[in-house]
Amino acid sequence: MLFEEGTERASSSPLNEEKRAGTYICAACNQPLFDSAHKYESGTGWPSFWQPIAGAVGTSTDFKLIYPRTEYHCSRCGGHQGHVFNDGPKPTGKRYCNNGVALAFVVQGASLPALRT
Ligand SMILES: [Zn+2]
Repeated sequence: MLFEEGTERASSSPLNEEKRAGTYICAACNQPLFDSAHKYESGTGWPSFWQPIAGAVGTSTDFKLIYPRTEYHCSRCGGHQGHVFNDGPKPTGKRYCNNGVALAFVVQGASLPALRT
């Protein structure tokens, strides 16, 4: 059984249901973090991706629970985004389980907002 950390309850994020093509950006600084092509339905209630945009996230190991987990965050502002697990789909086998409130969605064709500091 998986133990998910979150400041929100499962399925509370509208982004979990977002099916349109577009880009998921950091809610704090607007850096693009995930492409909708890499989003999938994990059944967890959190927006989940099997691959981030190259260089967009950094990781660290978090020991808040009994076993270590890999935390990931925006590489630009350091804002916590979620945890990465090894039970994702091919080709990466990774599951980036994201806190929905830490992301914003920009539909394909719309201009991305300017980066914030
Ligand atoms: Zn950021």
